[in-house]
Amino acid sequence: ATIPALLARTAARMGDAPALVFAAQGIRRTWRAFAEEVDRLAAGLAALGLAKGDRVGIWSPNRYEWLLTQFATARLGVILVTINPAYRVSELDYALRLTGCAALVLSPRFKGSDYVAMLAEVVPELPASAPGALASARLPALKHVIVMGEERHPGTWAFDEILARGEGADATALDRIGATLRPEDPINIQFTSGTTGLPKGATLTHRNIVNNAHFVTGRLKLTGADGLCIPVPFYHCFGMVMGTLGCVTKGARMIVPAEAFDPVSVLSTVEAEGATALYGVPTMFVAMLEHPDFARYDLSTLRTGIMAGAPCPIEVMKRVQTLMHMREVTIAYGMTETSPVSFQSATDTPLEKRVASVGRIHPHVEVRIVDEAGRTVPVGEQGELLTRGYSVMKGYWDDAVQTANAIDAEGWMHTGDLARIDAEGYCNITGRVKDMICRGGENIYPREIEEFLYTHPDVSQVQVFGIPDDRLGEIVCAWIVPKPGAAPSEAAMRDFCKGRIAHFKIPALVRFRDSLPMTVTGKPQKYLMRDAMIAELG
Ligand code: ATP
Ligand code: MG
Repeated sequence: ATIPALLARTAARMGDAPALVFAAQGIRRTWRAFAEEVDRLAAGLAALGLAKGDRVGIWSPNRYEWLLTQFATARLGVILVTINPAYRVSELDYALRLTGCAALVLSPRFKGSDYVAMLAEVVPELPASAPGALASARLPALKHVIVMGEERHPGTWAFDEILARGEGADATALDRIGATLRPEDPINIQFTSGTTGLPKGATLTHRNIVNNAHFVTGRLKLTGADGLCIPVPFYHCFGMVMGTLGCVTKGARMIVPAEAFDPVSVLSTVEAEGATALYGVPTMFVAMLEHPDFARYDLSTLRTGIMAGAPCPIEVMKRVQTLMHMREVTIAYGMTETSPVSFQSATDTPLEKRVASVGRIHPHVEVRIVDEAGRTVPVGEQGELLTRGYSVMKGYWDDAVQTANAIDAEGWMHTGDLARIDAEGYCNITGRVKDMICRGGENIYPREIEEFLYTHPDVSQVQVFGIPDDRLGEIVCAWIVPKPGAAPSEAAMRDFCKGRIAHFKIPALVRFRDSLPMTVTGKPQKYLMRDAMIAELG
């Protein structure tokens, strides 16, 4: 199905049942009201001349306007370009230029930054132009800037004005547009997290993401009786495909605590709304579990959810299952380029498998594990993970070279991740090909050492990476965030390792930090840690 066809079906089925709550904005809608408002916005955007195949960027934290824009652009077949609100001037410029956006929807401010002022650095013509008549020398395609909220900014449309223009929208005109949309049309450009370098713009179709949203929430057994709490960012596939679109596939209620993650807003919103499911990256769960007020919140309505996006330490999984009541929590593995999920545990996966793997392959996705020469390895052995099927992106936007590097002639997506799959089909992600440490001829997988260090009672977060060494090629380095109140020493950490892991895996250097460099999507940026260590050692 296409996205608009899916929303129409769910709205017809769910009617006046609650569809969503944005706790920080105090907004609630039923399915019927939500679908009507989507139509109003779609009609307003169409009145600006936006049409199928055009690109529209969105640069905002998790707000209701974001959700409306997601479904209103899809209603028109307009390709939504989701831009990380942490992006600054040069990255915004890159995203808009790469995709040739005709319009940009943005929130006026977030975390103390003035977004309209940042945009004006990219398009200095903005304040002087009339709304809808922007003529930018740098970004010739960009015609419209639409700003959320009450304030008025010269040269821009107010989001509410566009909604008002769509008042009394002619649904039959929108349905006529809907009839021209095909599941294989591109509908999103989503940027990868930029964990290993410059973010790449993955082009995804209705078919890619509608199906993935369906299968992901299917593994959670989500229904119209569930409420899913979504504290992960919308601009990333975790929020907008597994989260919002996932809820639309099942008629589950979307529960959005705040514009961005903070542990208290999630804990209090889960309690107040009686959420039954919760998404997060591992560091979010750690932040909640270790919050001093954690025990004050009643989380007993929680049943299931997903922890994904980065390696999920076994110790954290166990606490999520017991202390947060998420007995049926699942782990998912995926990447932006595959819509995103390809492996996920199920609500009834045996406990020991659930804590120690990312589950089994999703329906309609093929998988292979290959060695460096591209040969399939025997069952249980480690190699690079390749996937193929409906979920593989169309390609990187306007980048045939990178696309050909990632997707081979037979359609296999080369993930760049190392994995092994056991005889029962359970998959272990053992690291990124790029993160493997080669010390004096030994291949070392940082993930293994991280899992071991997590068993130390003073360790809250840990990342292990290699840094260059004249004698050994590379040496092992660990950065640790201690648990609140703990003050472990480097020597104590190494003593803990001695005799328990092979001597060559024991970190030569251990550093303690208050926090670790992470992408907004919760991925540890090892290249930044590596650079900092190289600088420290001179
Ligand atoms: P870039 O490609 O720009 O360097 P990125 O790969 O981090 O960034 P995403 O597409 O957001 O960007 O993330 C996908 C990656 O996240 C996967 O390739 C994998 O390395 C990691 N990942 C996702 N889920 C898991 C998981 N459950 N366990 C371990 N790693 C995971
Ligand atoms: Mg990647």
